[in-house]
Amino acid sequence: MTERFWEHKTLEQMTTQEWEAICDGCAKCCLHKFIDDEGADELAPTDHITEGEQIHYTNIVCALLDTKKCSCTRYAERSALVPDCVTLTKDNLKDIFFMPPSCSYRRLHEGRGLPSWHPLLNKGKKSAMHKAGMSVRGKTVSEAQVDLEHFEDYIALWPLEDIE
Ligand code: SF4
Ligand code: SF4
Repeated sequence: MTERFWEHKTLEQMTTQEWEAICDGCAKCCLHKFIDDEGADELAPTDHITEGEQIHYTNIVCALLDTKKCSCTRYAERSALVPDCVTLTKDNLKDIFFMPPSCSYRRLHEGRGLPSWHPLLNKGKKSAMHKAGMSVRGKTVSEAQVDLEHFEDYIALWPLEDIE
């Protein structure tokens, strides 16, 4: 990888290795989220969004996440095991709106660059990100421990925060 490749390459131009390195490993994309359709009586799980709808994040996290490391315990099989698991690729950048504002792919897609806490700017370490409070560490409850019928009780605003 060339130094600071993300500053002179678009997401589409990145190699697979570069693309993977852009992920900051925050695990916010492993949180349950729901779309609020003002015309509907109830919030409901969904895999698409239309005009006038809004995404709500919860602090309920996928049971396959190692919440201390903020990494997937079944990364290679994640799509097969968890159909809702969104794997962002160059071919589905249209789904980037599902990602939180601090998601590094979304930041680059929107021309906002990488923040100073990103692992690529911290010798590959996630500690600056955790310290800045930009990962899910210490803020989640496992989906195995909650009644998903009551997901509205777990709606959280912190996943929408971004700094820099
Ligand atoms: S939200 Fe974006 S940057 Fe964070 S772990 Fe998910 S894909 Fe990676
Ligand atoms: S399967 Fe892994 S990557 Fe997908 S949501 Fe669950 S923990 Fe996250």
